[in-house]
Amino acid sequence: MRKVSVFGATGSVGQNTIDLIDRDATAYDVVALTGGANIEKLAEDARRLNADIAVTAHDDRLDDLRAALAGSAVEAAAGQSALTEAAARPTDWVMSAIVGAAGLPPGLEALKQGATLALANKETLVCAGKLVMETAQSHDARLLPVDSEHSAVFQALVGEDMEAVERIIITASGGAFRDWPLSDLANATVEQASNHPNWNMGQRITIDSASMFNKALELIETKEFFAVSPDQIEVIVHPESIVHSLVGFKDGAVMAHMGAPDMRHAIGYALNWPERRDLPVERLNLAKLGQLRFHEPDEARYPALRLARNVMERGGLSGAVFNAAKERALDHFISRRIGFLEMADIVETVLDRFEATDSLLDAQFDLDNVLQTDHLARKWADEAVTKTTG
Ligand code: NDP
Repeated sequence: MRKVSVFGATGSVGQNTIDLIDRDATAYDVVALTGGANIEKLAEDARRLNADIAVTAHDDRLDDLRAALAGSAVEAAAGQSALTEAAARPTDWVMSAIVGAAGLPPGLEALKQGATLALANKETLVCAGKLVMETAQSHDARLLPVDSEHSAVFQALVGEDMEAVERIIITASGGAFRDWPLSDLANATVEQASNHPNWNMGQRITIDSASMFNKALELIETKEFFAVSPDQIEVIVHPESIVHSLVGFKDGAVMAHMGAPDMRHAIGYALNWPERRDLPVERLNLAKLGQLRFHEPDEARYPALRLARNVMERGGLSGAVFNAAKERALDHFISRRIGFLEMADIVETVLDRFEATDSLLDAQFDLDNVLQTDHLARKWADEAVTKTTG
Protein backbone atom coordinates (compact mmCIF):
# COMPACT_ATOMS: atom_id res chain seq x y z
CA MET A 1 0.00 0.00 0.00
CA ARG A 2 1.25 3.48 -0.82
CA LYS A 3 1.50 5.88 2.06
CA VAL A 4 -0.14 9.18 1.06
CA SER A 5 -0.93 12.52 2.72
CA VAL A 6 -3.14 15.36 1.55
CA PHE A 7 -2.31 18.88 2.69
CA GLY A 8 -5.26 21.22 2.12
CA ALA A 9 -7.58 18.19 2.05
CA THR A 10 -10.75 20.22 2.68
CA GLY A 11 -10.25 22.50 -0.34
CA SER A 12 -11.12 22.14 -3.99
CA VAL A 13 -7.93 20.31 -5.08
CA GLY A 14 -7.85 18.38 -1.78
CA GLN A 15 -11.40 17.10 -2.24
CA ASN A 16 -10.70 16.08 -5.84
CA THR A 17 -7.64 14.19 -4.58
CA ILE A 18 -9.69 12.47 -1.91
CA ASP A 19 -12.29 11.55 -4.51
CA LEU A 20 -9.58 9.66 -6.44
CA ILE A 21 -8.18 8.03 -3.29
CA ASP A 22 -11.69 6.98 -2.22
CA ARG A 23 -12.27 5.21 -5.53
CA ASP A 24 -9.30 2.92 -4.88
CA ALA A 25 -9.11 3.12 -1.07
CA THR A 26 -7.47 -0.29 -0.55
CA ALA A 27 -4.42 0.87 -2.52
CA TYR A 28 -3.62 3.69 -0.09
CA ASP A 29 -2.54 4.01 3.50
CA VAL A 30 -3.50 7.58 4.45
CA VAL A 31 -0.97 9.18 6.80
CA ALA A 32 -2.06 12.82 7.24
CA LEU A 33 -5.01 14.95 6.14
CA THR A 34 -4.91 18.67 6.85
CA GLY A 35 -7.37 21.53 6.62
CA GLY A 36 -8.17 24.93 8.03
CA ALA A 37 -11.58 26.06 9.24
CA ASN A 38 -13.63 23.18 7.84
CA ILE A 39 -13.23 20.85 10.83
CA GLU A 40 -16.32 18.80 10.04
CA LYS A 41 -15.12 17.82 6.55
CA LEU A 42 -11.57 17.17 7.79
CA ALA A 43 -12.76 14.84 10.55
CA GLU A 44 -15.27 13.07 8.31
CA ASP A 45 -12.62 12.28 5.67
CA ALA A 46 -9.96 11.36 8.25
CA ARG A 47 -12.35 8.88 9.86
CA ARG A 48 -13.52 7.34 6.61
CA LEU A 49 -9.97 6.99 5.22
CA ASN A 50 -8.61 5.92 8.59
CA ALA A 51 -5.84 8.53 8.54
CA ASP A 52 -3.10 8.40 11.16
CA ILE A 53 -3.44 12.12 11.90
CA ALA A 54 -5.69 15.08 11.05
CA VAL A 55 -4.31 18.60 11.42
CA THR A 56 -6.12 21.93 11.35
CA ALA A 57 -4.03 25.01 10.59
CA HIS A 58 -5.88 26.93 13.32
CA ASP A 59 -4.49 26.50 16.88
CA ASP A 60 -7.79 27.58 18.43
CA ARG A 61 -9.73 24.79 16.67
CA LEU A 62 -7.87 21.86 18.27
CA ASP A 63 -10.66 21.12 20.77
CA ASP A 64 -13.24 21.15 17.97
CA LEU A 65 -11.14 18.74 15.93
CA ARG A 66 -10.62 16.45 18.92
CA ALA A 67 -14.38 16.44 19.55
CA ALA A 68 -15.10 15.69 15.90
CA LEU A 69 -12.66 12.75 15.98
CA ALA A 70 -13.78 11.37 19.35
CA GLY A 71 -14.02 7.58 19.40
CA SER A 72 -11.79 7.17 16.33
CA ALA A 73 -8.11 6.18 16.23
CA VAL A 74 -7.21 9.36 14.32
CA GLU A 75 -4.76 11.63 16.14
CA ALA A 76 -5.63 15.37 16.20
CA ALA A 77 -3.21 18.31 16.00
CA ALA A 78 -3.37 22.03 15.24
CA GLY A 79 -1.24 24.95 14.14
CA GLN A 80 1.38 25.73 11.51
CA SER A 81 4.14 23.77 13.25
CA ALA A 82 1.85 20.73 13.52
CA LEU A 83 1.41 20.92 9.74
CA THR A 84 5.16 20.77 9.23
CA GLU A 85 5.48 17.95 11.77
CA ALA A 86 2.82 15.98 9.91
CA ALA A 87 4.81 16.51 6.70
CA ALA A 88 7.84 14.94 8.39
CA ARG A 89 6.03 11.59 8.79
CA PRO A 90 7.29 8.92 6.40
CA THR A 91 5.09 9.06 3.29
CA ASP A 92 5.51 8.02 -0.35
CA TRP A 93 3.32 10.70 -1.93
CA VAL A 94 2.12 14.05 -0.63
CA MET A 95 -0.45 16.36 -2.21
CA SER A 96 0.44 20.01 -1.57
CA ALA A 97 -2.94 21.77 -1.90
CA ILE A 98 -2.91 24.35 0.88
CA VAL A 99 -3.70 27.78 -0.56
CA GLY A 100 -1.05 30.51 -0.30
CA ALA A 101 2.49 30.72 1.06
CA ALA A 102 1.36 28.67 4.09
CA GLY A 103 1.91 25.64 1.85
CA LEU A 104 5.65 26.24 1.61
CA PRO A 105 7.00 24.93 4.97
CA PRO A 106 5.11 21.60 4.91
CA GLY A 107 5.95 21.12 1.23
CA LEU A 108 9.65 21.65 1.88
CA GLU A 109 9.50 19.27 4.84
CA ALA A 110 7.90 16.54 2.71
CA LEU A 111 10.71 16.93 0.16
CA LYS A 112 13.28 16.63 2.94
CA GLN A 113 11.78 13.23 3.75
CA GLY A 114 12.32 12.17 0.14
CA ALA A 115 8.57 12.01 -0.61
CA THR A 116 7.10 12.64 -4.04
CA LEU A 117 5.44 16.04 -3.79
CA ALA A 118 2.45 16.62 -6.04
CA LEU A 119 2.44 20.38 -6.23
CA ALA A 120 -0.85 22.22 -6.65
CA ASN A 121 0.39 24.99 -4.35
CA LYS A 122 2.12 27.12 -6.98
CA GLU A 123 3.05 29.66 -4.29
CA THR A 124 5.72 27.19 -3.11
CA LEU A 125 7.69 27.67 -6.33
CA VAL A 126 6.86 31.36 -6.73
CA CYS A 127 8.18 32.21 -3.25
CA ALA A 128 11.10 29.85 -3.05
CA GLY A 129 11.70 28.12 -6.39
CA LYS A 130 15.46 27.88 -6.05
CA LEU A 131 15.30 26.54 -2.50
CA VAL A 132 12.54 24.03 -3.35
CA MET A 133 14.27 22.64 -6.43
CA GLU A 134 17.58 22.33 -4.57
CA THR A 135 15.89 20.64 -1.61
CA ALA A 136 14.19 18.13 -3.93
CA GLN A 137 17.50 17.39 -5.62
CA SER A 138 19.58 17.04 -2.47
CA HIS A 139 17.02 14.69 -0.85
CA ASP A 140 16.36 12.66 -3.97
CA ALA A 141 12.72 13.69 -3.82
CA ARG A 142 10.48 14.15 -6.83
CA LEU A 143 8.30 17.12 -7.60
CA LEU A 144 5.29 16.56 -9.87
CA PRO A 145 3.20 19.48 -11.14
CA VAL A 146 -0.55 19.51 -10.50
CA ASP A 147 -1.47 22.88 -11.94
CA SER A 148 -3.20 21.76 -15.14
CA GLU A 149 -0.93 23.94 -17.30
CA HIS A 150 2.27 22.59 -15.78
CA SER A 151 1.02 19.03 -15.80
CA ALA A 152 0.30 19.56 -19.52
CA VAL A 153 3.84 20.84 -20.17
CA PHE A 154 5.32 18.03 -18.08
CA GLN A 155 3.37 15.46 -20.12
CA ALA A 156 4.36 17.08 -23.43
CA LEU A 157 8.00 16.84 -22.37
CA VAL A 158 8.03 13.11 -21.61
CA GLY A 159 10.93 11.57 -23.55
CA GLU A 160 12.09 14.96 -24.84
CA ASP A 161 15.41 16.71 -24.35
CA MET A 162 15.07 20.16 -22.70
CA GLU A 163 17.77 21.35 -25.12
CA ALA A 164 15.24 20.91 -27.93
CA VAL A 165 12.63 23.13 -26.26
CA GLU A 166 12.19 26.53 -27.88
CA ARG A 167 9.20 27.84 -25.92
CA ILE A 168 6.48 26.94 -23.47
CA ILE A 169 3.02 28.32 -24.17
CA ILE A 170 0.75 28.56 -21.15
CA THR A 171 -2.95 28.85 -21.88
CA ALA A 172 -5.29 31.11 -19.90
CA SER A 173 -9.06 31.01 -19.89
CA GLY A 174 -9.24 34.77 -19.34
CA GLY A 175 -11.29 34.29 -16.16
CA ALA A 176 -14.62 35.82 -15.22
CA PHE A 177 -14.08 39.18 -16.96
CA ARG A 178 -12.60 38.11 -20.26
CA ASP A 179 -15.54 39.58 -22.20
CA TRP A 180 -15.98 42.70 -20.08
CA PRO A 181 -15.02 46.13 -21.42
CA LEU A 182 -11.87 47.39 -19.70
CA SER A 183 -13.77 50.44 -18.42
CA ASP A 184 -16.11 48.23 -16.31
CA LEU A 185 -13.36 46.38 -14.43
CA ALA A 186 -12.84 49.09 -11.81
CA ASN A 187 -16.33 48.34 -10.45
CA ALA A 188 -16.13 44.54 -10.59
CA THR A 189 -17.43 42.96 -7.38
CA VAL A 190 -16.10 40.02 -5.36
CA GLU A 191 -19.14 37.95 -6.34
CA GLN A 192 -18.59 38.64 -10.05
CA ALA A 193 -14.87 37.83 -9.81
CA SER A 194 -15.64 34.58 -7.95
CA ASN A 195 -17.53 33.06 -10.86
CA HIS A 196 -15.19 31.20 -13.22
CA PRO A 197 -16.57 30.39 -16.67
CA ASN A 198 -14.84 26.96 -17.04
CA TRP A 199 -13.24 25.68 -13.83
CA ASN A 200 -14.75 24.93 -10.44
CA MET A 201 -12.02 26.01 -7.97
CA GLY A 202 -11.48 27.66 -4.59
CA GLN A 203 -12.53 31.32 -4.31
CA ARG A 204 -9.00 32.77 -4.13
CA ILE A 205 -7.66 31.13 -7.29
CA THR A 206 -10.93 31.97 -9.07
CA ILE A 207 -10.50 35.69 -8.34
CA ASP A 208 -6.81 35.39 -9.26
CA SER A 209 -7.93 33.97 -12.60
CA ALA A 210 -10.12 37.01 -13.25
CA SER A 211 -7.20 39.38 -12.53
CA MET A 212 -4.67 37.05 -14.23
CA PHE A 213 -2.63 37.02 -11.05
CA ASN A 214 -3.06 33.26 -11.23
CA LYS A 215 -1.48 33.23 -14.69
CA ALA A 216 1.23 35.58 -13.42
CA LEU A 217 2.07 33.11 -10.64
CA GLU A 218 2.06 30.33 -13.23
CA LEU A 219 4.59 32.18 -15.41
CA ILE A 220 6.99 32.27 -12.47
CA GLU A 221 6.14 28.65 -11.59
CA THR A 222 6.99 27.64 -15.19
CA LYS A 223 10.37 29.35 -15.05
CA GLU A 224 11.23 27.67 -11.75
CA PHE A 225 9.87 24.21 -12.52
CA PHE A 226 11.20 23.76 -16.04
CA ALA A 227 14.33 25.96 -15.67
CA VAL A 228 13.62 27.95 -18.84
CA SER A 229 14.35 31.63 -19.40
CA PRO A 230 11.50 34.17 -19.11
CA ASP A 231 11.57 34.95 -22.84
CA GLN A 232 10.85 31.28 -23.60
CA ILE A 233 7.48 31.49 -21.83
CA GLU A 234 4.38 32.79 -23.61
CA VAL A 235 0.78 33.20 -22.47
CA ILE A 236 -2.16 32.78 -24.80
CA VAL A 237 -5.82 33.30 -23.99
CA HIS A 238 -7.89 30.22 -24.84
CA PRO A 239 -11.48 30.67 -23.67
CA GLU A 240 -12.51 26.98 -23.92
CA SER A 241 -9.81 25.66 -21.49
CA ILE A 242 -9.40 22.49 -23.56
CA VAL A 243 -5.75 22.93 -24.55
CA HIS A 244 -4.07 23.03 -21.15
CA SER A 245 -0.68 24.22 -22.48
CA LEU A 246 1.80 23.62 -25.29
CA VAL A 247 5.50 23.08 -25.83
CA GLY A 248 7.23 24.36 -28.98
CA PHE A 249 10.41 22.59 -30.12
CA LYS A 250 13.43 23.69 -32.16
CA ASP A 251 12.16 21.89 -35.25
CA GLY A 252 8.91 23.88 -35.23
CA ALA A 253 6.78 21.07 -33.79
CA VAL A 254 4.29 22.07 -31.12
CA MET A 255 2.93 19.49 -28.67
CA ALA A 256 -0.40 20.42 -27.09
CA HIS A 257 -2.03 18.69 -24.15
CA MET A 258 -5.82 18.57 -24.33
CA GLY A 259 -8.58 17.41 -22.05
CA ALA A 260 -11.81 18.41 -20.37
CA PRO A 261 -11.35 21.08 -17.69
CA ASP A 262 -11.38 18.70 -14.71
CA MET A 263 -8.58 18.87 -12.12
CA ARG A 264 -8.87 15.13 -11.52
CA HIS A 265 -6.86 14.58 -14.68
CA ALA A 266 -3.76 16.47 -13.47
CA ILE A 267 -4.19 15.17 -9.92
CA GLY A 268 -4.66 11.59 -11.12
CA TYR A 269 -1.68 11.85 -13.44
CA ALA A 270 0.50 12.89 -10.49
CA LEU A 271 -1.03 10.20 -8.27
CA ASN A 272 -0.48 7.39 -10.78
CA TRP A 273 2.79 8.66 -12.29
CA PRO A 274 4.73 7.17 -14.04
CA GLU A 275 1.78 4.99 -15.06
CA ARG A 276 -1.43 6.12 -16.69
CA ARG A 277 -4.58 4.62 -15.21
CA ASP A 278 -8.32 5.05 -15.79
CA LEU A 279 -9.60 8.37 -14.51
CA PRO A 280 -13.24 9.41 -14.10
CA VAL A 281 -12.97 12.43 -16.41
CA GLU A 282 -15.11 13.33 -19.39
CA ARG A 283 -13.66 12.20 -22.73
CA LEU A 284 -13.12 14.91 -25.33
CA ASN A 285 -15.36 15.08 -28.35
CA LEU A 286 -13.64 17.54 -30.65
CA ALA A 287 -16.33 17.38 -33.33
CA LYS A 288 -18.91 18.39 -30.73
CA LEU A 289 -16.68 21.23 -29.52
CA GLY A 290 -16.40 22.47 -33.10
CA GLN A 291 -13.81 25.19 -32.56
CA LEU A 292 -11.04 26.26 -30.23
CA ARG A 293 -10.14 29.95 -30.03
CA PHE A 294 -6.83 31.60 -29.12
CA HIS A 295 -5.74 35.23 -28.81
CA GLU A 296 -2.96 37.22 -27.23
CA PRO A 297 -3.59 38.67 -23.77
CA ASP A 298 -3.94 42.44 -23.48
CA GLU A 299 -1.33 43.59 -20.94
CA ALA A 300 -3.23 46.84 -20.30
CA ARG A 301 -6.08 44.68 -19.10
CA TYR A 302 -3.83 42.35 -17.12
CA PRO A 303 -0.98 44.30 -15.41
CA ALA A 304 -0.26 41.19 -13.30
CA LEU A 305 1.46 39.63 -16.34
CA ARG A 306 3.82 42.59 -16.73
CA LEU A 307 4.64 42.47 -13.00
CA ALA A 308 5.37 38.73 -13.19
CA ARG A 309 7.76 39.32 -16.10
CA ASN A 310 9.59 41.93 -14.00
CA VAL A 311 9.79 39.44 -11.12
CA MET A 312 11.21 36.72 -13.36
CA GLU A 313 13.88 39.11 -14.63
CA ARG A 314 14.66 40.46 -11.14
CA GLY A 315 14.97 37.09 -9.40
CA GLY A 316 16.21 36.93 -5.81
CA LEU A 317 13.41 37.14 -3.26
CA SER A 318 11.11 39.16 -5.54
CA GLY A 319 8.83 36.13 -6.07
CA ALA A 320 8.15 35.96 -2.32
CA VAL A 321 7.34 39.70 -2.31
CA PHE A 322 5.09 39.38 -5.34
CA ASN A 323 3.13 36.50 -3.87
CA ALA A 324 2.75 37.95 -0.36
CA ALA A 325 1.68 41.39 -1.64
CA LYS A 326 -0.78 39.68 -3.98
CA GLU A 327 -2.21 37.57 -1.13
CA ARG A 328 -2.80 40.68 1.02
CA ALA A 329 -4.20 42.71 -1.90
CA LEU A 330 -6.61 39.84 -2.53
CA ASP A 331 -7.61 39.75 1.16
CA HIS A 332 -8.38 43.47 0.97
CA PHE A 333 -10.37 43.06 -2.25
CA ILE A 334 -12.38 40.22 -0.70
CA SER A 335 -13.08 42.35 2.38
CA ARG A 336 -14.09 45.16 0.00
CA ARG A 337 -11.47 47.67 1.12
CA ILE A 338 -10.00 48.06 -2.37
CA GLY A 339 -11.33 47.72 -5.89
CA PHE A 340 -10.49 45.00 -8.42
CA LEU A 341 -7.93 47.06 -10.35
CA GLU A 342 -6.23 48.34 -7.20
CA MET A 343 -4.87 44.87 -6.42
CA ALA A 344 -2.18 45.24 -9.11
CA ASP A 345 -1.37 48.81 -7.94
CA ILE A 346 -0.76 47.54 -4.40
CA VAL A 347 1.51 44.72 -5.59
CA GLU A 348 3.52 47.11 -7.78
CA THR A 349 3.91 49.61 -4.92
CA VAL A 350 5.29 46.90 -2.63
CA LEU A 351 7.67 45.55 -5.29
CA ASP A 352 8.96 49.09 -5.95
CA ARG A 353 9.49 49.68 -2.23
CA PHE A 354 11.53 46.49 -1.90
CA GLU A 355 13.56 47.37 -4.97
CA ALA A 356 14.33 50.77 -3.48
CA THR A 357 15.47 49.27 -0.18
CA ASP A 358 19.07 48.12 -0.35
CA SER A 359 19.82 44.39 -0.46
CA LEU A 360 16.42 43.17 0.77
CA LEU A 361 15.73 41.26 -2.44
CA ASP A 362 19.24 39.86 -2.59
CA ALA A 363 19.40 38.38 0.90
CA GLN A 364 20.48 34.75 1.16
CA PHE A 365 17.86 32.40 -0.26
CA ASP A 366 16.87 30.29 2.75
CA LEU A 367 13.51 29.53 4.37
CA ASP A 368 13.95 32.07 7.18
CA ASN A 369 14.62 34.89 4.73
CA VAL A 370 11.74 33.83 2.49
CA LEU A 371 9.36 33.86 5.48
CA GLN A 372 10.69 37.20 6.76
CA THR A 373 10.35 38.72 3.30
CA ASP A 374 6.83 37.33 3.04
CA HIS A 375 5.97 38.90 6.41
CA LEU A 376 7.40 42.32 5.51
CA ALA A 377 5.71 42.35 2.09
CA ARG A 378 2.35 41.67 3.76
CA LYS A 379 2.95 44.56 6.18
CA TRP A 380 3.91 46.92 3.35
CA ALA A 381 0.90 45.81 1.33
CA ASP A 382 -1.34 46.68 4.29
CA GLU A 383 0.36 50.07 4.54
CA ALA A 384 -0.15 50.68 0.83
CA VAL A 385 -3.83 49.81 1.20
CA THR A 386 -4.20 52.19 4.16
CA LYS A 387 -2.58 54.96 2.09
CA THR A 388 -5.00 54.30 -0.78
CA THR A 389 -8.15 54.05 1.31
CA GLY A 390 -7.23 56.56 4.00
P1 NDP B 1 -9.18 26.09 -1.49
O1 NDP B 1 -9.35 27.47 -0.96
O2 NDP B 1 -10.35 25.41 -2.06
O3 NDP B 1 -8.55 25.14 -0.36
C1 NDP B 1 -7.42 25.54 0.35
C2 NDP B 1 -7.05 24.51 1.40
O4 NDP B 1 -6.04 25.06 2.25
C3 NDP B 1 -8.20 24.14 2.33
O5 NDP B 1 -8.00 22.83 2.81
C4 NDP B 1 -8.04 25.15 3.47
O6 NDP B 1 -8.68 24.73 4.67
C5 NDP B 1 -6.53 25.15 3.60
N1 NDP B 1 -5.99 26.38 4.19
C6 NDP B 1 -6.44 27.64 4.03
N2 NDP B 1 -5.63 28.51 4.69
C7 NDP B 1 -4.65 27.76 5.26
C8 NDP B 1 -3.52 28.07 6.07
N3 NDP B 1 -3.21 29.33 6.42
N4 NDP B 1 -2.72 27.06 6.50
C9 NDP B 1 -3.00 25.78 6.16
N5 NDP B 1 -4.07 25.41 5.40
C10 NDP B 1 -4.88 26.40 4.94
O7 NDP B 1 -7.99 26.19 -2.56
P2 NDP B 1 -7.81 25.38 -3.91
O8 NDP B 1 -7.99 23.92 -3.66
O9 NDP B 1 -8.56 26.04 -4.99
O10 NDP B 1 -6.27 25.67 -4.22
C11 NDP B 1 -5.23 25.09 -3.44
C12 NDP B 1 -3.91 25.35 -4.13
O11 NDP B 1 -3.92 24.71 -5.40
C13 NDP B 1 -3.65 26.83 -4.44
O12 NDP B 1 -2.28 27.06 -4.35
C14 NDP B 1 -4.12 26.99 -5.87
O13 NDP B 1 -3.45 28.05 -6.53
C15 NDP B 1 -3.71 25.64 -6.45
N6 NDP B 1 -4.49 25.20 -7.59
C16 NDP B 1 -5.84 25.04 -7.48
C17 NDP B 1 -6.59 24.61 -8.55
C18 NDP B 1 -8.06 24.35 -8.42
O14 NDP B 1 -8.66 23.77 -9.33
N7 NDP B 1 -8.71 24.71 -7.35
C19 NDP B 1 -5.97 24.35 -9.86
C20 NDP B 1 -4.54 24.48 -9.84
C21 NDP B 1 -3.84 24.91 -8.76
P3 NDP B 1 -10.25 25.10 5.00
O15 NDP B 1 -10.97 25.14 3.70
O16 NDP B 1 -10.64 23.97 5.89
O17 NDP B 1 -10.21 26.42 5.71
